[in-house]
Amino acid sequence: MDIEAIKINIGTEIQDLASLEALEELRVKYLGRKGVLAELTGSIPGLPVEARAAFGQSVNALKNKITLLIEEKKKLLAAPAAGGSAERVDIGMPGIVHEPGRLHPLTQVTREICAIFTRMGFSIIEGPEIETEFNNFTGLNIPLEHPSREAFDTFYLKADHRAPTTDHLLLRSHTSPVQIRVMKEKKPPLAVVVPGRVYRPDAVDASHSFMFHQIEGFIVDKNIRFSDLKGILEFFAKQVFGQDILMRFRPHFFPFTEPSAEVDISCVICKAKGCSACGRKGWIEILGSGMIHPNVFKHVGYDPKKYSGFAFGMGVERIAMLKYGINDIRLFYENDLRFLKQF
Ligand SMILES: [Zn+2]
Repeated sequence: MDIEAIKINIGTEIQDLASLEALEELRVKYLGRKGVLAELTGSIPGLPVEARAAFGQSVNALKNKITLLIEEKKKLLAAPAAGGSAERVDIGMPGIVHEPGRLHPLTQVTREICAIFTRMGFSIIEGPEIETEFNNFTGLNIPLEHPSREAFDTFYLKADHRAPTTDHLLLRSHTSPVQIRVMKEKKPPLAVVVPGRVYRPDAVDASHSFMFHQIEGFIVDKNIRFSDLKGILEFFAKQVFGQDILMRFRPHFFPFTEPSAEVDISCVICKAKGCSACGRKGWIEILGSGMIHPNVFKHVGYDPKKYSGFAFGMGVERIAMLKYGINDIRLFYENDLRFLKQF
């Protein structure tokens, strides 16, 4: 057995091993009681006296080298990622649960309402929250002296908003300015719903917030009638609140529609008999609506003799509160998981 040959080959022999069992076999083969090294040691007495010491030292050096290589290989094979740096996956370990998120109830209701109208052929269009006085008021036939244009009813971006014939910027107080934007840009036929945030300087309480959400809808075409408005809103109300609800139109005034009506549905709790939720009236208001005023058409360059249309607007919070029986609007904005997890 040639010591030099063993020295050269032992490195690659160990490197090629893939398991601790194979390494143990190799250890026994070289370092075992009847192994290669023992055999070499056993051959010493047969050597010439002057050669024995040097040969003995070479055998010892080889033994140390093999021992060292085996120890290193053992560590490598026992390491968590055998043979490399890749992470080992322990499939027996308990997992980390990531709870699925969900949409905010106002987002859910907004999407539900928009989906009902898109199924009827409406498009969804959004507009900016900062608007001009023209789009928010003048274009919608709301005269300069109208109380809603006062600073205590609208957030103006500059304080001198009351100077006459101005067109200052403001935070839109309703989604209706998008009507003006769309009609200025497109020609009829139009069928559009407009979801979005609106702002009013209201003190925050259980039913008011300085910011809330509206959905506006309007149709413009030839021969659009009040009966079209009624049919579409009845379909909408029954989709949201159930087929057995009743609906009624109550005459009202809005500057941008003529005639105008507020729309009530029968109380979902008492079925129109009267309870504390509906103030003993049996009816609950859900939205405002009407036929688009001819002056609005004139402002956007439509001929009111040629076209007619209707518009409606509703508060998303109000619809959500009625739908889920929520009694305080502030719950929507507090990010309390105990509330949000119910939807
Ligand atoms: Zn009731």
